[in-house]
Amino acid sequence: MSRILIVEDEPAIALGLEDDLKMEGYEVEVARDGITAARRGREGAFDLILLDVMLPGKDGFEVCRELRRAGLKTPILMLTAKAREEEKVTGLELGADDYVTKPFGTRELRARIKALLRRSTGDAETECCRFGEVEVDFARGELRLRGRPVELTPIEFKLLDFFIRARGRVLSRDQLLAAAWGPDTFASARIVDNHIANLRRKIGDDPAEPRYLRNVRGLGYRFDG
Ligand code: CA
Repeated sequence: MSRILIVEDEPAIALGLEDDLKMEGYEVEVARDGITAARRGREGAFDLILLDVMLPGKDGFEVCRELRRAGLKTPILMLTAKAREEEKVTGLELGADDYVTKPFGTRELRARIKALLRRSTGDAETECCRFGEVEVDFARGELRLRGRPVELTPIEFKLLDFFIRARGRVLSRDQLLAAAWGPDTFASARIVDNHIANLRRKIGDDPAEPRYLRNVRGLGYRFDG
């Protein structure tokens, strides 16, 4: 499930967006001013930020600039006023990925969001990945072992995605929990072990002597692929 941060101070618009995106199956958080937006944008591990320009505290341009300066790569979709043509240009120059002009239709907005999410999860590096006899297509959410499709749960997909991105690095159970279950999870570290056991089976890894998802004693796991 993709996480979206909505930054909008007008309550009616914020609520409408929140309802609509939740119905589309996104996990949604709303920030109502620029200062909260800049903080949550950095901390919240969102997949996309929907950013209004006119905001109390700090305007959307300032928030965008700050997030990009902090190295955040999350796609930013600016909500600009139709009457102000220059806002589009300013937003894009400051590192926004796209814009929608107000008032916008929900269908247009949904399409833009989908396109941006596709683009960002479709990083050349992680869109498709191959190791051993496994092929993973993250854009389509498919995994094949020796050419045959294997069903992965969303949690298993998140774990595998995180492992592949962090290839060769040791990941603690807490890091894996946060990555796959979210930072506020109450799940215990043991559940990670269970999911990794399942994941190993699904990618054809030998549980007695894993080749890809390796145990690193006392520390966690490492993906060598
Ligand atoms: Ca506003």
